Amino acid sequence: MPARPNRPEPVAAGMVAISTGRRNAYLVVLVVLPVLALAAAVVVVWGRGIGARDVVIAGVMYVISIFGISVGYHRLLTHRSFKCRRPLRVGLAVAGGLALEGPATLWAAEHRRHHKYADRPGDPHSPWAYGDGGLALLRGLLHAQVGWFYTARHRSSRRHWVPDLLADPDIRRLDAAYPAVAALSFLLPAAAGGLWSMSWSGALTALFWGGLVRYAVVHHVTWSVNSIAHTFGRRDFATRDRSANVRWVALLTFGEGWHNWHHAEPACARHGVLKGQFDASARLIRCFEQVGWAHDVRWPDPARLAARLEDARAGPAG
Ligand SMILES: [Zn+2]
Ligand SMILES: [Zn+2]
Repeated sequence: MPARPNRPEPVAAGMVAISTGRRNAYLVVLVVLPVLALAAAVVVVWGRGIGARDVVIAGVMYVISIFGISVGYHRLLTHRSFKCRRPLRVGLAVAGGLALEGPATLWAAEHRRHHKYADRPGDPHSPWAYGDGGLALLRGLLHAQVGWFYTARHRSSRRHWVPDLLADPDIRRLDAAYPAVAALSFLLPAAAGGLWSMSWSGALTALFWGGLVRYAVVHHVTWSVNSIAHTFGRRDFATRDRSANVRWVALLTFGEGWHNWHHAEPACARHGVLKGQFDASARLIRCFEQVGWAHDVRWPDPARLAARLEDARAGPAG
């Protein structure tokens, strides 16, 4: 892969310019604030620790946010890996919104562009964007983790990449209600902490752990799929990109770290398809299917899976 030290941003169809004001907002909300929250968490733990109540509230918020991104935003809305009843579709989209990674249409548009150009010019967040060498790769990892939110002068056009989602009145309404969902992402843990402890201080610590710190952790866990799982790990399947399987990323993201198979078969509802690859999100989709809430689930086809493995073993991956 040729090194692109200055990383010229290719502007193609399907991209629109981002205003300076919006780039600055991305810088604050997506780059700076989560880092400050994580630093504050370390200081607070050091000084006074974290109570069991806040651990539970933050844990529940984490599970809702990560499943919202993995099962809702990613597998349901972006890749259409399954269909489901309207209340569940709306519920999963709201859960995804609670992760504070942007409205569903914007998230899905960037991610569909990622799949089309993965690790090639046009990919919004490839860790290989600056080249393969040591420092270039380090710079690329930072770019894939959070840097691209600020450095990108263009984002994916929703009209180009997600016309199906724009045609869905529920999703359009949720896009419009995104600021309210974002507020809920902080109000929910604060209310839970306040009611549980019947105190303002309980609301405040839950707001900190279940709101602020949880959102920072969820962000960096999610973005590690873009950085770590495109750089390190096993590549069991031959794909045109450098997607790989990373166990710890898969555990934290509830299955999203089995990223190599995901790039091999993006619409598949299960990402962890090999022995020992636990995929909590696929388990949840299976539960939805069993109780009749989800249908037309795209489970892996054993024959295709075997053929893909055979392909990878026969020739060099990539
Ligand atoms: Zn990827
Ligand atoms: Zn994907």
